[in-house]
Amino acid sequence: MLPDNVLLSKNPVQDLRVFLDKKKYSEVAVLVDENIHRFCYPLIEKALPPHRVIKVQSGEEQKTLDTCTAIWQEMTDQALDRHAVLIVIGGGVLGDMGGFCAATYKRGIDFILIPTTLLAQADASIGGKLAVDFNNFKNHIGVFKLPALTLLFSGFFKTLPLAELRSGFAEVIKHALISDKNMWDEIRTKSLEEQDWDRLVLHSVAYKSHVVTEDPTEKGLRKILNAGHTIGHAVESYLLASGNRILHGEAIAVGIISEGHIARTRGLLSQESFQQIADYLFKIFGKVKLDKNTFDQIAALALQDKKNKGNKILCVLQDGIGNAKLDCEISLDEIKDALNSYMSL
Ligand code: ADP
Ligand code: ZN
Repeated sequence: MLPDNVLLSKNPVQDLRVFLDKKKYSEVAVLVDENIHRFCYPLIEKALPPHRVIKVQSGEEQKTLDTCTAIWQEMTDQALDRHAVLIVIGGGVLGDMGGFCAATYKRGIDFILIPTTLLAQADASIGGKLAVDFNNFKNHIGVFKLPALTLLFSGFFKTLPLAELRSGFAEVIKHALISDKNMWDEIRTKSLEEQDWDRLVLHSVAYKSHVVTEDPTEKGLRKILNAGHTIGHAVESYLLASGNRILHGEAIAVGIISEGHIARTRGLLSQESFQQIADYLFKIFGKVKLDKNTFDQIAALALQDKKNKGNKILCVLQDGIGNAKLDCEISLDEIKDALNSYMSL
């Protein structure tokens, strides 16, 4: 079910200790931010041999080459050799950046990911995509490399801000909607607080790993993971640029509903299924306020999506619940219509 390098753990100290004992790394360095140092590092610390802690500031703004330079400098100061390991504890920002630093330091040393947000556990830490932002381009400089180990532990969610938990929940919901109607039926009967995170993380990781193994470099099937992201990402980018930043998952919830509307108008999704999805997402995420006058700009942003081909906007559409269709061409007018529909629900 899970790939060899991914472990869903009830006892991260013991599991990590066993792994490190087996690997006999020459040295250990640990990357954290200030929140992780306070809330998550203490849950892992006992597993670690003598090590150096590299601390960076939290936040997506820190996911830059400048921060990498500081991390590489500390790794160099510590004289880490090629048999050392970097243990990255944190959310998606740290995982992407720390993994990238390890993958490039001396042409690559092992790294261990210990993701501490739901988003990172259910999504970002699987698939080996590592990157930092560059100027205004998200994830512009990076590589593909798998961690030696990904250690998943739902105990970290106890200290995770609720908004962050909800944000990650959108990707969990996405995975169910595109692959597993039964899981969706299980999810939709419970509130955010009632969800069984171990079960959901396992489901998301098993599904995402399967997709990524089939298509590691996103030539085909992997595109399915972009469900909700064509419109969702455009909304996220628009709001970010206008100074009204929302969390990634909140934008993806808008995307799932809006793209669901397009699927409904094309007869791919029944009215009843659409309503069920929209009702649940509104209950969990509320409604993001969008101004009608901005829909042209939001639609134009969807045209710039990395996954498009030429001038065509390619989108993943729900094909019933539990299935999705890749590479559906959608028009600017359909996006604006979908956003109008979102606002009117
Ligand atoms: P994402 O995984 O969504 O990309 P980030 O890496 O941006 O998330 O982390 C979101 C914020 O939550 C950061 O400020 C980070 O320090 C903090 N954080 C991450 N995990 C935890 C946790 N388990 N407990 C408390 N705070 C956390
Ligand atoms: Zn996403």
